[in-house]
Amino acid sequence: CGIIGCVGRDDTLGTLVHGLSKLEYRGYDSAGVALGGETLGVLKRAGELGALRDALEGGPDLSGSVGIGHTRWSTHGPPTDENAHPHLDCAGSVAVVHNGIIENYQKLRDELSDAGHEFESDTDTEVVPHLIEAGLESGADPETAFRAAIDRLEGSFAIACLVAGRESVFVARNDSPLVLGIDGDATYLASDVPAFREFTDRVVYLDDGEFAELSAGGWQVTDADGAPVEKSIETVAWDP
Ligand code: GLU
Repeated sequence: CGIIGCVGRDDTLGTLVHGLSKLEYRGYDSAGVALGGETLGVLKRAGELGALRDALEGGPDLSGSVGIGHTRWSTHGPPTDENAHPHLDCAGSVAVVHNGIIENYQKLRDELSDAGHEFESDTDTEVVPHLIEAGLESGADPETAFRAAIDRLEGSFAIACLVAGRESVFVARNDSPLVLGIDGDATYLASDVPAFREFTDRVVYLDDGEFAELSAGGWQVTDADGAPVEKSIETVAWDP
């Protein structure tokens, strides 16, 4: 029950796995990562972080300049590989991690299924990448498609999203914790500071209803209407 993301690290995968290990105290039943850039690579496993680490050892070569990760505490669907996050759209070009509960997911899932979207999990979360895909298919750019999808959600969420071909991470928050970590060339996001505390002590807490895009060029927080929000950077004093 935690999310992590980073942009601008040399070792994206190592940074994500480190962050997930620091979120272990929150308790979880599955873990997964997605790395992005031109294409997306995803690996996820039910069980403790060790199961994901084992799968990574002999698994695909996951590289990319941007990445997201998740530790799941299941609310909708049992702890299985399929139900672990990140979740993808049909084309495999949108990856989403989510902490929280999407209350109106069944209605959205029915609507998307009617439109031809096929689902692979029992989770409430999987509607999100499919909503984004529907937006992209109708010609929206990634940011617009992400905002439109979030706008449809009722419930609690901290969400991070990768879209293939875009070297950035989109995030949104409502009623679930989400904090950014700011450091020179790299930017982080997480449910809690220990996930990236080893790399930076400068943080920005997102508020409900806020969005952000983290990219190599930096980070920008916006409100629900897309208007920039001036956030103050705080320095965390305590050790991880
Ligand atoms: N509701 C989502 C699920 O069951 C996310 C749970 C969480 O916060 O870990 O997959």
